[in-house]
Amino acid sequence: MMSSDRAFKELFVNLKGKQGVVIGAGVAGLTAAAALSRWGVQVWLIDKAPVIGGHAIQFSCKAIEGCVQCGACQVHERAQQVSRQKNITFVPGARIVRSRGNGRLELTLAASGQGAGQSAGRFPDTLNADALLVTTGFTVYDPSHKPYGYGQFANVLTNLDAERILHATGALARPSDGRLPRRMAFIQCVGSRDHRIGHDWCSKICCGSALRMARLVQSRQPGTAVTFFYIDVQSFGRQFQAIYDGCRERIRTVRAIPADIRKTADDDMQVTYFDPQDRNATDAVFDLVVLSAGLTPTADNAVLASVLGMRLLENGFFCPHDNDTQPPGMFAAGAALGPMSIAESIDSAGKAAFDMVRYLDGGRLR
Ligand SMILES: Cc1cc2nc3c(=O)[nH]c(=O)nc-3n(C[C@H](O)[C@H](O)[C@H](O)COP(=O)(O)OP(=O)(O)OC[C@H]3O[C@@H](n4cnc5c(N)ncnc54)[C@H](O)[C@@H]3O)c2cc1C
Ligand code: SF4
Ligand code: SF4
Repeated sequence: MMSSDRAFKELFVNLKGKQGVVIGAGVAGLTAAAALSRWGVQVWLIDKAPVIGGHAIQFSCKAIEGCVQCGACQVHERAQQVSRQKNITFVPGARIVRSRGNGRLELTLAASGQGAGQSAGRFPDTLNADALLVTTGFTVYDPSHKPYGYGQFANVLTNLDAERILHATGALARPSDGRLPRRMAFIQCVGSRDHRIGHDWCSKICCGSALRMARLVQSRQPGTAVTFFYIDVQSFGRQFQAIYDGCRERIRTVRAIPADIRKTADDDMQVTYFDPQDRNATDAVFDLVVLSAGLTPTADNAVLASVLGMRLLENGFFCPHDNDTQPPGMFAAGAALGPMSIAESIDSAGKAAFDMVRYLDGGRLR
């Protein structure tokens, strides 16, 4: 029998000179690019944004007394791995606008308008690819049409806004006056599990992410009391039960989703909800509200799928590549397939990279 070392070397030689294109440099794209490059594939890593890391590079470490397994540091680790690999070329500020060929593809690139990209002469007009992987992630639901005053009231934020503020400043203050909130609320399931807007799915990550953020805010801002409005809590992810039990001691939980939010004269938020205990409509005033906006398909999925001839699911996320659902040599991974955590995105990208290597090796690798 051939030693695994020899088999690896042979495969490495077989894949040398093969070109793989990874579209999207979030944690999934970074994971896949690093894996492909270790197998000897020449990788072009394309992102419409000017920097690598996708959504998760904007998140803070949520550790309080110890690690709470939020996964944010995984992105930085993978970004470093990619920067050390000589056979990965990062192409920022670009998107694919045309694809030609069968098997070996010729891809046409254009500036996305989000980065210096082509205007700085940083990427070629066309690329050849022996295989490609879509890791274009998700878009956070825009809650402007919900009756919560998002976009109108300065002190109503989405979870992503809150992550960005926390990451930039280390605290979660009121945007209207920079004061630390005394009473803040999280409202869960905004734009998810909502049949009326065709978003039937659970976004999976927002319960855990809101609770971890609430714990961090409380530990850094002891004067901030937190209320958590929810339908039910999804216990995805490692150590979730321990985190949830720890939260329940410190956070007021209300099993109801508020009907609307009105602004008071002091820029506070009056939240109306149906109190499940005394079965009455109840008002409560908060000075900061965070909406746990769900994960939705990226707006340009339809364009990209049509350019590449790939298939989308009915809900707008990419179809997985199992069972020949995608054209030969085309793969998808991470949150481009549907809502998933950082750990799941890494796992999915690792599997897709392996499938891509098998495809490039003519299916010989087991
Ligand atoms: C507020 C919030 C908090 C979260 N907290 C946690 C948490 O605590 N723990 C956890 O595990 N998960 C959390 N998540 C989920 C986490 O963000 C995802 O699991 C992770 O980002 C998925 O990685 P990805 O690479 O698949 O997608 P993304 O991070 O979305 O990256 C996709 C990349 O593709 C690029 N792209 C998109 N379209 C194109 C195109 N057409 N051409 C070129 N490039 C393109 C984008 O610019 C982006 O860089 C959270 C999500 C949100 C919104
Ligand atoms: S997993 Fe999250 S909490 Fe743990 S060390 Fe990494 S960033 Fe911090
Ligand atoms: S993870 Fe929680 S907040 Fe997010 S959609 Fe599912 S139940 Fe709602």
